[in-house]
Amino acid sequence: MATPLRTCVRCQIDNLQATGKRRLSQSIANVRRQYVRVPSQLVSRRVYSDSTTNSRELSAGPKITLDQITEQLGVAKPRIITQTQPRYAGEITGSEHETEPELTDEEFRRLHPGLGSLTPWSFPLDDSCKTIDTLNDTNIGEKVKVRGWLYQSKPGNTAIVFATILQGGKFIQVIFDKNAGFEAPHKVLTIRAHTPVEIEGTLQYKPRKGSKFTTNAGEPSVPEDVENFHRTLEIVASRYEIIGNPPTEPIIAGTAHTGDKRYISMRTSTDLLKALHLRNKVSQICRKHLDEEGFLEVETPLLFKSTPEGAREFLVPTRTPGQMYALPQSPQQYKQILMAGGILKYFQLAKCFRDEDLRADRQPEFTQLDLEMGFVDGTTVQKTVERLLKRIWYEVLGVKLPAFRVMSYNFAITNYGTDKPDTRYQMTIRPFERIIEQNSPLSRTPVYGDWKYEIITHPCNISNSRLGLIASQIASPTDGDLAALRGPNPDCIMFKNGEELDYPAIRKQLLRIAPHLKAEPLDLERIIGAMASKNLLPANNIIMIGRRKKEFNPGGSTSLGELRKQLCQKLIKLGFMEKLVGWKFLWVTHFPLFTPINPLENEPGQSGTAGYKSTHHPFTAPTVSTRENLMNLPWKTLGHHYDVVLNGVELGGGSTRIHEAELQRTILEDILKVPAEKMKTFQHLLDMLETGCPPHAGLALGFDRLVAILAGRDSIREVIAFPKNNRGQDLVVDSPGLVTKKQLDEYGIMLKDNVLEGQEGPVLLAEDEAATMELAKDSEANIVEEVEVAASRISAVPGIGESVLADTAEKTVVPGKLDMLLGEKNEVEEEVKVLVEEAVVKTEETIIVEDSVSTSEPVVEISGEAAQEVVQQSLVTPKPELEEAKVSETEEVKVEGLEESKAEKVEDREVEGSIEVKEERSIEKKVEETEEVEVVKEAKPEEVKPEEANPEEAKPEEAKAVEGDKKPE
Ligand code: ASP
Repeated sequence: MATPLRTCVRCQIDNLQATGKRRLSQSIANVRRQYVRVPSQLVSRRVYSDSTTNSRELSAGPKITLDQITEQLGVAKPRIITQTQPRYAGEITGSEHETEPELTDEEFRRLHPGLGSLTPWSFPLDDSCKTIDTLNDTNIGEKVKVRGWLYQSKPGNTAIVFATILQGGKFIQVIFDKNAGFEAPHKVLTIRAHTPVEIEGTLQYKPRKGSKFTTNAGEPSVPEDVENFHRTLEIVASRYEIIGNPPTEPIIAGTAHTGDKRYISMRTSTDLLKALHLRNKVSQICRKHLDEEGFLEVETPLLFKSTPEGAREFLVPTRTPGQMYALPQSPQQYKQILMAGGILKYFQLAKCFRDEDLRADRQPEFTQLDLEMGFVDGTTVQKTVERLLKRIWYEVLGVKLPAFRVMSYNFAITNYGTDKPDTRYQMTIRPFERIIEQNSPLSRTPVYGDWKYEIITHPCNISNSRLGLIASQIASPTDGDLAALRGPNPDCIMFKNGEELDYPAIRKQLLRIAPHLKAEPLDLERIIGAMASKNLLPANNIIMIGRRKKEFNPGGSTSLGELRKQLCQKLIKLGFMEKLVGWKFLWVTHFPLFTPINPLENEPGQSGTAGYKSTHHPFTAPTVSTRENLMNLPWKTLGHHYDVVLNGVELGGGSTRIHEAELQRTILEDILKVPAEKMKTFQHLLDMLETGCPPHAGLALGFDRLVAILAGRDSIREVIAFPKNNRGQDLVVDSPGLVTKKQLDEYGIMLKDNVLEGQEGPVLLAEDEAATMELAKDSEANIVEEVEVAASRISAVPGIGESVLADTAEKTVVPGKLDMLLGEKNEVEEEVKVLVEEAVVKTEETIIVEDSVSTSEPVVEISGEAAQEVVQQSLVTPKPELEEAKVSETEEVKVEGLEESKAEKVEDREVEGSIEVKEERSIEKKVEETEEVEVVKEAKPEEVKPEEANPEEAKPEEAKAVEGDKKPE
């Protein structure tokens, strides 16, 4: 509660702070001797609660009214605010009353000359305000109060100003109209955009003019973001108040805000707000659904330890020398431990941390919907996740998904060249090394027989030269493997077949990818002929040919698969292919358990010395049928792993886990060859597995990616409130940052010589001692200056002022005093509170400020000149409210279509191209695309859908450029 006396005391605090503890105590002692007399209960209702003195002193002195006081002091009459709502859940305070002065800036400055340009505090802010989104027809004609940012203002004519108020991503027009009784409308034009304001006025319909909603003067005041502009209502203002500082730098509507001003984007960009709302909605659905299925949300520690699970970790030093935590790359080990703990259905929206390459739209910290189930295997987990995803798609998009298709990793790589195929388009791969081997004896020799050759044909009327241009773009160095497209011995080639078979051109292309065929030109002729007869070189088709080692096992995708994907994107962009639509979910299963370590990848893996790493993590169980390969041909072992893939994007993955200690130890120690010291870091897991751990399985969905897809955004940064840029920096808070040498010393850490060379910006470490001293001096000088000003101001108060002045006159700037001052600030404030309760005055001129609402309410009694000064100052300087009023509300998430979605059965299905599928597949084999996505017709519009355009109002083109809606750096 803001009270007159309390704010006045701030001025005294300013003075008293500078005197230090002893001097302050002395001051208080003096004041007590002179003035202890009548305390104030009104003032002390919440903050100063010395009730014993209060009750003793209450009835002293003659009473005068509030009007008399304000008249005497020459200030505006305070507002009396009756608080009727609880400030926070649980507190019922129906009868509290507060007074707040309505002071202009000028009055404030006159009464507080020392406080320079500070604007008056705006508290208390009652809760009678409306939010823009709740204003509707039922409020027409009502007096409404709205708080928000003044977004735009412009003159209509000499008597009218139109303004737009922004709040929570919504805009409403406000009319300041002299004819409607608003005194000086043009004053509003001087308020800088993005100044927090409170507007009071009458809600009315916007007058219609022609077919459009316009303002009275026919002058629309529409922000760029028309989509969220209140089209039919406006407020005719009777009052406004500035309730926060205007921005120091102008914020221009429509300009892009860089990553360091993300909050302005958040304030103004409905895209970002929508994404955050959607994110909230999806997390609510997940929680509700999993709760209904009996899952328990358990938080697992973020301060974990370093174990070679697979990804590079972030380390967190401790003050115990050499001891470090590591941030978890996922809650994997904890969730498995939960299974041993009998929490058989666990989930969590978990923060994960991986210090990895950030170029591919990854974040060093990201969120997973993580789950694990005990006494089941992976198929139950897959069914559970499928149910959840179907429900999300239904509730968010109104789309009813069919059962997810299942395909093995081998099938996916063979047909699509990737372990996450987008099956919305065909362009499937066909192998043709048989043709080469049958027609070329050299190709059957061990040296040349290692290669698999694959081809994709795609009918397209693109010209050869245009395709060449695409190829050069695809093959840019950033495209990894595809840089080879242009090299002398590329792993894939691409060309366009004309109407007729152009032997010389095809020969030239084939020789680039299989140069050994040069030795036998006749072989090459036969090969081209055989390819043509098998319809592998159809006319007017784009031909893509790739080669890869038969023992290929790198995970991810092949060069041809990558070319397929990139070509498709380019063709769509250039209009040679239809835009891809629909939702194609897949389970990709039976991954190789191990993957060769690519020395260029620079991934830590499990730090083993075997030359390969776990494809996912080392806790994935091998499949029963390939388990026998573990010891001798480990790379031929398949894992009980499953990825859920949507439209070519990996949404998540999981596995059936190893639940036997012996097998886990064998895989880590004997197969991956994890060094002994790293083995120790897994001991807790092995111990856990030895205690009767149930069989278990789990999965994690990339939550950021899931929301980005639902929101139709390309980058996960667009659905994260504070994302890191592609250098891993959060520009809003400027992290990460250097720390001082002193901090490093605390952790026993020493930086290697020269590691800071080349760092941008000031390197504080080297000069930190001197810099800290300088900063301290500066701050101290500032505080002393402020104190002096404040002291001179309060010197007029008899008793208090003299002692303070005496104290401040003696003070000097000494090193360390700043610390002392700041350190003792709280104590000082406490003492001042006591002072206020007791420092009140002589009897003859006692004033009683009577509460105007209830005579039984407490009163303030003060007297003498000092009392007047105290009251005067307090009336003009309301203190910011310390306790936030907050009423928590739990919103019910409406579940639509639950019955349908629950009734959906995930049918047992066969794994397409399961492990039995031979690598040598018939070239005629076609991939079947059967499932269709059914769109529920009566689906309600959701946030992610573009809102229905107002049929009466065309959306201006420039309105699409929403302010701040730019990707962060
Ligand atoms: N922890 C795994 C990951 O982050 C997911 C899982 O296996 O459950 O990819």
